[in-house]
Amino acid sequence: MAVQRTLSIIKPDAVAKNVVGDIIRRFEENGLSVIAVRLQQLSAAEAGRFYAVHAERPFYGDLCSFMSSGPALAMVLEGQNAIALNRQLMGATNPKEAEAGTIRADHADSIDANAVHGSDSAENAANEIAFFFADLELNSRIA
Ligand code: GDP
Repeated sequence: MAVQRTLSIIKPDAVAKNVVGDIIRRFEENGLSVIAVRLQQLSAAEAGRFYAVHAERPFYGDLCSFMSSGPALAMVLEGQNAIALNRQLMGATNPKEAEAGTIRADHADSIDANAVHGSDSAENAANEIAFFFADLELNSRIA
């Protein structure tokens, strides 16, 4: 295992429900540290750029309007095996399939309003972190 960084987004549904603290607590209790954070309402065009990989999918329009429907909390998490660990804590994309005790099982309402985003590979993590944050905004917590 190596120390990694990953991008996490607490999506507009979970911010609106006031469960930001509960979600960050789960990250911290599992060894992930927040090294950058910003609350921001994306425009539909910005959400579209972030999710450009899904541009041809039938749900792309709904995804972009949902992601720009209210403020979202973007953050960079750092820790051992951070990319896979974050995905494990999130649970499956469709909350109906998410394992009990995961963030999506507890806080997601639907496959659209599914509470959190997390990078799914080292390459995507680097690109997604750079989408939201400048290098100078990343405050490594590893001694
Ligand atoms: P994630 O990495 O688990 O968030 O999943 P993906 O990167 O594959 O998809 C991005 C987001 O698009 C998901 O979090 C869902 O909100 C949405 N999404 C993915 N697949 C579907 C689908 O089949 N239908 C709908 N309505 N939304 C989807």
